[in-house]
Amino acid sequence: MTHVVEVDGLGKTYTTKDGPFEAVRDVTFHVDDNEIVSIVGPSGAGKTTVLRTVAGLQTYDRGEVRVLGNRVERPPADLAMVFQDYSRSLLPWMSIEGNVMLPLRSAGVPRDEARRRAAHALKSVGIEGRGSAKPQQLSGGMQQRVAIARAIASRPRLLVMDEPFASVDAQTRMDLEDLVLPLRDEYEMAILFVTHDVDESVYLSDRVVVLTRAPSEIAEIVPIELGPSRNQFDTKERPEFAHARHRIFELIRRPVAA
Ligand code: ADP
Repeated sequence: MTHVVEVDGLGKTYTTKDGPFEAVRDVTFHVDDNEIVSIVGPSGAGKTTVLRTVAGLQTYDRGEVRVLGNRVERPPADLAMVFQDYSRSLLPWMSIEGNVMLPLRSAGVPRDEARRRAAHALKSVGIEGRGSAKPQQLSGGMQQRVAIARAIASRPRLLVMDEPFASVDAQTRMDLEDLVLPLRDEYEMAILFVTHDVDESVYLSDRVVVLTRAPSEIAEIVPIELGPSRNQFDTKERPEFAHARHRIFELIRRPVAA
């Protein structure tokens, strides 16, 4: 079976003014259809490096990265990405509808069809009747919803999210987290998610890839046995949640081997 994402023995050494810096040593994992996989690890562990490599935004030196069976050498067609900083990812002079339609129009989708798909995507993220507003007229959480709508409007097979909820307040963050699982179900896509928030990784994922400190390797891939339906209160009180959370913290805080 072809995995949606296959990262096999990935290694990346950056060239810095002080010489080569090995950020990622040996990272192997995969993501299947409709799966949500998070990458967590200490700060500087190479989470963003791995994510950007999958998204075709970053070259790599060792191993192989494939999306839908094809070696990644440029941003893959069936992939869409959501960044942390919504204020820089939306075009401020363009309406919300225009922002969501933009990638569709660039891909040659006729205007009426693009408008229809944009309206559907905006409805899926809980925004209706605000298409003519400008991004700054919406709250931060709503702007991030627009960025998500823009990403899913093209119906990608893989959605890549880099710390997408790190810039909003705690309540908004919960609301946005609760958007992810229904979107995965409605759009039938795989999601690869980077977060530094262990609770968030457990709450949202089917599996959590825990990286060691740089030069990073896989500390462990932790399966999350919480089933498909989750909510912020009951799910977080379940013993399976506590066990996974405990294990991931243990791995992240493990002292560096002498
Ligand atoms: P994380 O997302 O886990 O915090 P990153 O992937 O951003 O980690 O970075 C991993 C390591 O590689 C860090 O030590 C970082 O300073 C270094 N790094 C990232 N990008 C570059 C770059 N372009 N040039 C040099 N070093 C980099």
